[in-house]
Amino acid sequence: MDGNGTKNFNLHRCAVSDDTNDTLTARAYDAPLRPSRTAFQRDRERIVTARAFRRLAGKTQVFTSRASDHFRSRLTHTIEVVQIARGVAQALGLNEDLSEVLALAHDIGHPPFGHAGERALDTCLKLHGLRFDHNIHALRIVEHFELRYAAHRGLNLTLGVREGIIKHSRDYTVAQYPELACYLLDRMPPLEAQIIDLADEIAYLTADLDDGVESGLLEIGHIRAHVGLLDDCFTQIEQIHPGVEEKYLFNEALQLMQNTLTDDLVATTLANTRAIGATSLSEIRAHTARLAVFSAVAEAQRQQEKHYLYETLYTCPELSLEHDKAEEVITRLFNFWINKPDELPSGYVEQIETEGLARVVADYIAGMTDSFILLQYAQVKRAVRR
Ligand code: MG
Repeated sequence: MDGNGTKNFNLHRCAVSDDTNDTLTARAYDAPLRPSRTAFQRDRERIVTARAFRRLAGKTQVFTSRASDHFRSRLTHTIEVVQIARGVAQALGLNEDLSEVLALAHDIGHPPFGHAGERALDTCLKLHGLRFDHNIHALRIVEHFELRYAAHRGLNLTLGVREGIIKHSRDYTVAQYPELACYLLDRMPPLEAQIIDLADEIAYLTADLDDGVESGLLEIGHIRAHVGLLDDCFTQIEQIHPGVEEKYLFNEALQLMQNTLTDDLVATTLANTRAIGATSLSEIRAHTARLAVFSAVAEAQRQQEKHYLYETLYTCPELSLEHDKAEEVITRLFNFWINKPDELPSGYVEQIETEGLARVVADYIAGMTDSFILLQYAQVKRAVRR
């Protein structure tokens, strides 16, 4: 936004093009053009109708126990990221459809049980000389596991979407990941991909305080004493609505906090891009650092809150118990299928020769929802006892 509040579309020239002749709209396999929809709008449909996308409804965001129907799942978290990313893309004049697809896909590679599940799977794979990375797993899902087309495996997404999936939250090097060389690893991702990680941060920094209070594990006064940004927002809301019940002030303070971080991201990205004089996508790509970042003030506030959430919520005794259980379930099932590969579904057994057993077991586990993996765990425990 400009100082007068009007939208500034200066970054439009730095946006990814929808042009069907552009390399970023190209697909690995021929797909007839659809005159009524752009390439990225078609990719949105391909993601939304993917089985892995639907399974996000059954995957943990932060709370593995279903003590409340109001906690975010990976799916509802994803919807929140979409609306933030789309708003930022629109305010900056970027390609909104591409940002929306990348936000929809940003957590599609996450295993059950949230980050505890990801850590447990990574630990299991390390013993076999491999690693688990949810971005690379997301790429395996869209390129390999989704089976919806007669002529090929995978969703046949555009290069722009596949590049964004792999690069939205971190940078990979060709030396470490030669299999990713086709994704222009020596270049920065487009701004449409750069904003996704920050939209994700804005979404969960807001939602985790909300769910934390809903769970009873966080207390509003304690948050205010330790999270400066939320306290500033709460004070502003309190001045507008004196005497109103704390929970309503808190809800509005969360909304204000989300808006403050979003506006900061828009303004800082615009200022950074203007500062280097970039007027094209190739200049965004050639720059040595990401341009979509928070200002120094907002970044310090973000780090303070993240530290608070880590110390007070993510590692609290109640969630640590859930994490221990997640680790036990994943480790035990992983070892079970490593020792009894014939017990895997036939589609996975067929993959062992090309992918290796440990990767195939991890692929199978990573795709599971929380409820499905607990069912598998119960069945395996019964089978072992027999
Ligand atoms: Mg996320």
